[in-house]
Amino acid sequence: MIINCPSCRKPMSSKAPACPSCDTERGDLSDEQLSELSRRRLRDRIYRLKMASYAAISVLLAAAGWYFYEASDLDLTPSTGPLVLVALGSVAYVIVRALLFAAKRALKAH
Ligand SMILES: [Zn+2]
Repeated sequence: MIINCPSCRKPMSSKAPACPSCDTERGDLSDEQLSELSRRRLRDRIYRLKMASYAAISVLLAAAGWYFYEASDLDLTPSTGPLVLVALGSVAYVIVRALLFAAKRALKAH
């Protein structure tokens, strides 16, 4: 059975007494405890990624607000600011969603 090292998270055999990458001894933790530990880490990661995706959506909403604010005021020359913000927010959102997808798959595999 392949588990993740409790210290560096690299995959290692559950039979090995210590991690081949960082030399951390797995100690007295059972396979179940180690597996639960990595599941917990993945859940934390998913939580943080969800927060990051909400942040990206907030950026997109702010960009939209900025755009309509400039569009509604005839005295203002529309700037490229909102477009840049939309581009950045979209890229960030796509990256976060991809990481979230990978993390959820990893969690299912455990
Ligand atoms: Zn390690």
